[in-house]
Amino acid sequence: MTPIPTPRRPRWRSLALLALLLAPLLWPLQQLAERYYRDELIEQNRQTLDLYVANLLGTLRRFEVLPPVLGDLPDLRGALLKPDDSAALDKANLLLKRVREQTGADVIYLLDAQGVTRAASNHDQADSFIGRNFTFRPYYQAASEGRLGRFFGLGTTSGKRGYYFAAGVREGERRLGVLVLKVDLDYTERLWGKTPEQLLVTDSNGVVILTSNPDWRFRASRPLTGEELTRIAADQPYPTQQPQPLQLEPKAWLMQSRELAETGWTVSILAPRGQVERPVRTVLAIGGASLLTLLALLGLLLQRRRHYIERIALDARAKRELEIRVLERTRELESLNNRLKDEVLEREQAQQELLRTQDDLVQAGKLTALGTMSASISHELNQPLAAIRSYADNAGVLLDHQRTEEARGNLKQISELTGRMASIIAHLRAFARRDRHAPESVALQPALDDALALLAKRRRALEVELIRDLPEATLWVQAGETRLRQVLGNLLANALDALGEKAPPRRLWLSAASTPEGVNLVLRDNGPGFSAQALEHAREPFFTTKTSTQGLGLGLAICETLMRALGGELLLANHPDGGALVTLSLRHATPGANLEPPEEFS
Ligand code: ADP
Repeated sequence: MTPIPTPRRPRWRSLALLALLLAPLLWPLQQLAERYYRDELIEQNRQTLDLYVANLLGTLRRFEVLPPVLGDLPDLRGALLKPDDSAALDKANLLLKRVREQTGADVIYLLDAQGVTRAASNHDQADSFIGRNFTFRPYYQAASEGRLGRFFGLGTTSGKRGYYFAAGVREGERRLGVLVLKVDLDYTERLWGKTPEQLLVTDSNGVVILTSNPDWRFRASRPLTGEELTRIAADQPYPTQQPQPLQLEPKAWLMQSRELAETGWTVSILAPRGQVERPVRTVLAIGGASLLTLLALLGLLLQRRRHYIERIALDARAKRELEIRVLERTRELESLNNRLKDEVLEREQAQQELLRTQDDLVQAGKLTALGTMSASISHELNQPLAAIRSYADNAGVLLDHQRTEEARGNLKQISELTGRMASIIAHLRAFARRDRHAPESVALQPALDDALALLAKRRRALEVELIRDLPEATLWVQAGETRLRQVLGNLLANALDALGEKAPPRRLWLSAASTPEGVNLVLRDNGPGFSAQALEHAREPFFTTKTSTQGLGLGLAICETLMRALGGELLLANHPDGGALVTLSLRHATPGANLEPPEEFS
């Protein structure tokens, strides 16, 4: 039987290998997630940026329109027209202070044609601009030339960052002075608050002027040209004349920018890339976990499948083994069957052989019996026939010599011899005949008397003493009248034959008794008794110990046949005191009249 191959590699190792192979699958997931979250962040930051830009522009535009409008106010012009009029100056100071309070500007101040501050919203404060000259500021120049002056810079007194708007104040064609408004940008910056994403405003020099990260403030986002550096030195917009470079790691930040055309500024929003990486990592973790779960499920499925296959293989193997066992058993049974068949055949043959042998034996027996019989018959009949011929021949000779008396004697001998021959033939017929008459009730004592009467002459000649021990009451037995007399006659004749062989005293005992089984008639003589051979073979036809003239060997054979036909039994034995003891067992019969005529018997 072929063993089922079962790969026994550790499962965890194959799964790890599979996980390694499947790991590249996470790469597109990472790409997708990264793109998604980046786009998401970009969109979100764009909105934030828009909001900040709008806020910044709104703030600036709100103040942008004020200087030209304020420049037209008569109170301010009056202060410039009458520089020595303290009342006019007070008026202007108060006006500027009020406007500042109402608009939320950082500071508003009025310069005369020489650039000296005449009135200011902070006139009453310690850091008042009154009397200060601002001609060095670029906005002064622009406003003097009729343009709207714009400038970013630090307050020379306050040091605070601000955006300056400046507009000329005129009386017709005459240039009276300049009105300057400073917008506080520190406040704007403070509004941005603390968020992970950083805001950055760079001016036209690329220098950071506003930022949510104080470390980046006044650093140059790009290399400055010589010309730019010269102007910076002249205008002093920053606390330093040599801004340090801003070194931003481009990989660490996701930057979006917007240009503000009117100021030349660039507003940027920088989001740390970590904001994208974190959710991507989460997605990757979830993806990885899902993949692992899938793998585990797959492993489980494969394991179950393997178990299933193993079970099927096991079942198949068990089935095969069973089939083989059944086959072997069938084969054994077949061989057993064949052996049995052979045995039966042998037995049949043996039986046939036996039957054949029996047939042969029967045949042989028949032939033997026939041979013996014909030998006996021819011997028995030849002797008297030879004697008859001799007597007849002799009688002829005697008649020739006129010896009539002697011839008559021969004829008498011949007659006796023919009588003997007839007797032999009669015995043979009796032996061969099958008496089909049903047994009937026969009285035992009268039958015995008849048989004794027939032999009375011979008994007397032998001087045999008869000792009878028979009950008075008639014993009724199942038999045939003639057949019973024939049997009794044979037995009595045998007894007389035996007694004739010895010297007197000769005795013959006859006794009968009724038993529950039937009636037993016992004949005993004090003759020589049965020889051992006779006891064994006396009942066989033609067995005789007598000379051929005395016995035919048919008497007991006939008795046996008749008794068996009557349902009785013939027992031969010797008496302990010597002599034969013959027992005749007969069945009981209901008493009745014996009307049957004597059967043919001679
Ligand atoms: P047969 O009388 O012609 O010999 P039976 O069949 O009548 O034939 O008897 C067979 C033999 O049995 C006898 O030859 C004899 O040897 C023996 N036999 C029969 N009756 C007696 C007897 N009463 N005593 C001794 N032997 C007997």
